[in-house]
Amino acid sequence: MSNPNEPTSSSPSSHSLSLTDFQKLIEKMYGQKDRERGVEGTFMWFMEEVGELATALREGRADELEGEFADVVAWLTTMANVVGIDLTQAIYKKYGTGCPGCQKLVCACPPEEKP
Ligand SMILES: [Zn+2]
Repeated sequence: MSNPNEPTSSSPSSHSLSLTDFQKLIEKMYGQKDRERGVEGTFMWFMEEVGELATALREGRADELEGEFADVVAWLTTMANVVGIDLTQAIYKKYGTGCPGCQKLVCACPPEEKP
């Protein structure tokens, strides 16, 4: 049986990791430090990582893109842990059944609208 505190992947080379498992992994690795730092400090680190992703995208540094995407998702997940948001639930509620703007699976919102 699976342990709810462990990722379901059985080996480090597995390429399957659910968002739920990732959020639990981040909690296990960083949860205590994250709560001590608080939401303001965590948000600053998140924004720094977003800036690094922007740099990697702008400079076309393909070798660094993977890592920067991973960092941004990791810090976003950390922030969700600090404020007690279940990311899987949040994403499913908002996007799980289609575009939040037009409710379609393939967005049909006019191009001038954000979605
Ligand atoms: Zn739409």
